[in-house]
Amino acid sequence: MRSARPWSAGALRPLVTAAILGALVSAGCSRQATSEEASVPPGEIVVFSGPRFWTGEPARPWADGLAVRDGRIVALLERHEIARLVAQGAEDVRLPGEVALPGLVDGHGHLLGYGLARRSVDLVGADSLEQTLARVAAWARSHPDAPWVLGRGWDQNDWPRKAFPDADRLDQVVPDRPCALRRIDGHALWVNRAALAAAGIDARTPDPAGGQILRDRTGRPTGILVDSAMDLVDRVVPEPDDATVRRALEDAVASLSAFGLTGFHDMGTDGRTLGIIREMDAAGRLPLRLTLYASADDEELVARLMRDGPEQGRRFRVVGVKFYADGALGSRGARLLAPYNDQPDHLGLFVTDPTELRSRVLETMRAGLQPAVHAIGDAANRLVLEIYAGGLRELLAAGRTSSLALRPRIEHAQVVAPPDIPRFRSIVDDALAAAGAAEALRRHVAIVASMQPSHATSDMPWAERRLGSARLRGAYAWRSLIDAGVPLVFGSDVPVESADPRTGLYAAVTRTDARGLPPGGWLPAERVPLERAVRAYTLGAAFAAGRERDEGTLAPGKRCDLTVLRVDPFGNPPRTLLDDPVLATVVDGQVTWRAPAPPPEQAATK
Ligand SMILES: [Zn+2]
Repeated sequence: MRSARPWSAGALRPLVTAAILGALVSAGCSRQATSEEASVPPGEIVVFSGPRFWTGEPARPWADGLAVRDGRIVALLERHEIARLVAQGAEDVRLPGEVALPGLVDGHGHLLGYGLARRSVDLVGADSLEQTLARVAAWARSHPDAPWVLGRGWDQNDWPRKAFPDADRLDQVVPDRPCALRRIDGHALWVNRAALAAAGIDARTPDPAGGQILRDRTGRPTGILVDSAMDLVDRVVPEPDDATVRRALEDAVASLSAFGLTGFHDMGTDGRTLGIIREMDAAGRLPLRLTLYASADDEELVARLMRDGPEQGRRFRVVGVKFYADGALGSRGARLLAPYNDQPDHLGLFVTDPTELRSRVLETMRAGLQPAVHAIGDAANRLVLEIYAGGLRELLAAGRTSSLALRPRIEHAQVVAPPDIPRFRSIVDDALAAAGAAEALRRHVAIVASMQPSHATSDMPWAERRLGSARLRGAYAWRSLIDAGVPLVFGSDVPVESADPRTGLYAAVTRTDARGLPPGGWLPAERVPLERAVRAYTLGAAFAAGRERDEGTLAPGKRCDLTVLRVDPFGNPPRTLLDDPVLATVVDGQVTWRAPAPPPEQAATK
């Protein structure tokens, strides 16, 4: 995110002088507070100290403390300045741990899906069909009144036989009511016979556009529904009521905060969820910042945004619209330029008709909203790049240079044809040149790659079977995108992967699984140094959401958002990331989460 740096509050930097700080303190601060959880009264200085602060600012990468007023950083401090400010009466907040990072932000996830997933059968990590079925059976036994048995997270690629499961096996454990289990990638649904019957699916049901009903040799549905075919069942599953949605959202934000996250980009918010988020925000019950991308399926919400423009709350903003170009690789729904290596008659699926996608994305951009389009396969990525090329040319030629529409996002950018990697940047440069745009705009306009490091390490056991070796060159290629000058934001895609940002950082840096396999990493040329990975979770996330002047690094003028780690990840092996916990989360200068029991060696600093 080199391009973002000049926007980072440089005008406020003169504040970093001891003299002015002294004046700030004597003018504004009269009491010595002791409560670490207290909110910050206006006009008062709070000093954060304890860990070393990694700022993310190359000119001054480390600080010993932060002076904060009204939730914003006013100065980076050295040790002697901390002591003096505290002596002058500044509130002293001692954080535990060795290192505080600028607050980590998950750049791609599904908030309600995560909350609801925490209330259904969790199949993640089950490494055989038998174990998967055992978990389903146990959940069904302990929830005899649930009208449906719902779950998610199975992955047949993790089982000894890699074949898709079927309805008959599921009927053996859930014979009495419908059961629907979503695949780990969210792009296939495994259902039993009762669910097929409830949805009215039989041998005569045609495949819907953008989807597939898998069938046996006699044409009978097997119980696996891919991409839009899942809708046939989803629409007969009873909707969760408002109270359930609210509990799920509250549970989700609390859990994300405990992972050290200070922000989250929600990909596909619907109108009801937005309404509840609005209420939570008004009640002060959002412990982290939410950047929301409306679901393209919620036409009412999208129409309202088109009319009224982006919406801003205290800790949430609605800035754009989330679309899907294609499906996912695991279920062979990702749209490829050439057939699947392991299914030579199959290119995958465009889940939105390309002509419709183009016109809806352009409408979104014209309305000043930021498009975020899911694109996994190389054909889908190329399509979206070409749509964005047209949109950027149009907006720039019309002199419309202020909105986030000039920062369209590609979600996943998972398999990109190698010649298309530099096009993420060259399309932007060409559009700027064609419009004769000012040099300063180069820093504002970009196609953002939004990637999820854990997808690479989850998919690495089987991705080559789907793609063949040649296409791996542009697969999960975050290093190549960075090197091409493309702004990158990292995220988790929770509930597809764990929301824990430490697992994403570890995957980005090592490209191995938790056991360190394969040695040296999968496609190791695409590994990145830790500071680049942290940057993609901080300044990269801020840039992707148009917040780089307010968030993303620790610098005067920016929000005081922190993720506090027990062990310094820069000075230790990457494995440290997985083993050592987050100890505290700070948003707007308030401690929003703290590890319940500090480890003994930290007790002295408390
Ligand atoms: Zn997603």
